[in-house]
Amino acid sequence: MHDQFQRQINYLRISVTDRCNLRCVYCMPDGGVKSVPHEEVLTIEEIVEVVAAGVPLGIRKVRLTGGEPLVRRGILKLVQKLHQIPEIDDIALTTNGILLEKMAGGLKEAGVNRVNISLDTLKPARFRKITRGGNLDQVWRGINAALDKKLQPVKINTVAIRGFNDDELVDLARLTIGQPLHVRFIELMPIGTSDNWAGGRYIPTSEVQELITDALGNLTEEKLVTGSGPAYYGRLPGARGTVGFISAVSNHFCARCNRLRLTATGQLRPCLFSSQEVDIKQALRAGVGREALTRIFREAILNKPDQHDLAARWQDDDRVMSQIGG
Ligand code: SAM
Ligand code: SF4
Repeated sequence: MHDQFQRQINYLRISVTDRCNLRCVYCMPDGGVKSVPHEEVLTIEEIVEVVAAGVPLGIRKVRLTGGEPLVRRGILKLVQKLHQIPEIDDIALTTNGILLEKMAGGLKEAGVNRVNISLDTLKPARFRKITRGGNLDQVWRGINAALDKKLQPVKINTVAIRGFNDDELVDLARLTIGQPLHVRFIELMPIGTSDNWAGGRYIPTSEVQELITDALGNLTEEKLVTGSGPAYYGRLPGARGTVGFISAVSNHFCARCNRLRLTATGQLRPCLFSSQEVDIKQALRAGVGREALTRIFREAILNKPDQHDLAARWQDDDRVMSQIGG
């Protein structure tokens, strides 16, 4: 269905857990986030029911995220059940890649089409620092497993961070030359960073793009990367993959936003950057039927704000990214 601003909403991003096996500094506060009790998190069956309630309104694509979706028990069962809903034609997953090596084959078999893997640095010591303890080698094994199992297109999410990886952005873009990888540079967003960690570290897309083209040559625009959503993609000369840019802060793409989010605790969230949510869990657990759930879904779509104003203000929100589902 269309929202109040004539945007067609067909995409649901689902945070399947608020838990994570890493603690990235821009995503989680220093001491980590207190996980919500298990009973507050939607069960696999409840998540499937919410998706089914969205189908009559036009939901066709889902992305599983978190927290880290691969630490969620029953994740393969969830994918299988979503895959059985005939109208759902695309199941994607965003992961830190730590557990992907052993799970890539099972995910593909269960019905995942493609994965996005987060990777902000090519240096093991830096990786340990930004993730507070992660092992870069495991991520590389996960990326290779995703390529091997054809979870395509394999996209790499890189948050550009001044003073941390600005000296590596060109090297990360270079990965697309030899391998069919799609490296997307994401602007650091002022969300979940109550300690203002992000202050001064933000790099606008224009600057990242200039660094890359100065070093590696011009980008030829690509329109055919599956699930390209709000990103701009270009191809370096002779490259097998593409370079993408997601400018959520400097050039918001609200006018083309086609998505809704479901938090791990069962709130439908019309916009990542607005704390407004519609509770669907309570109705689910009260045993209302599918039609009533669809009405709640409709309400959430109609609540989608026109646009966010991230660039103008520091986000004041008590949830962090891992809880909402980045
Ligand atoms: N754990 C999975 C992962 O890291 O890919 C999925 C969840 S994570 C919240 C999803 C994406 O959000 C990651 O690519 C991460 O880099 C990004 N992210 C988290 N906090 C961010 C922030 N403050 N600004 C920009 N991107 C952020
Ligand atoms: Fe975990 Fe992903 Fe957040 Fe890193 S970005 S702490 S991997 S949820």
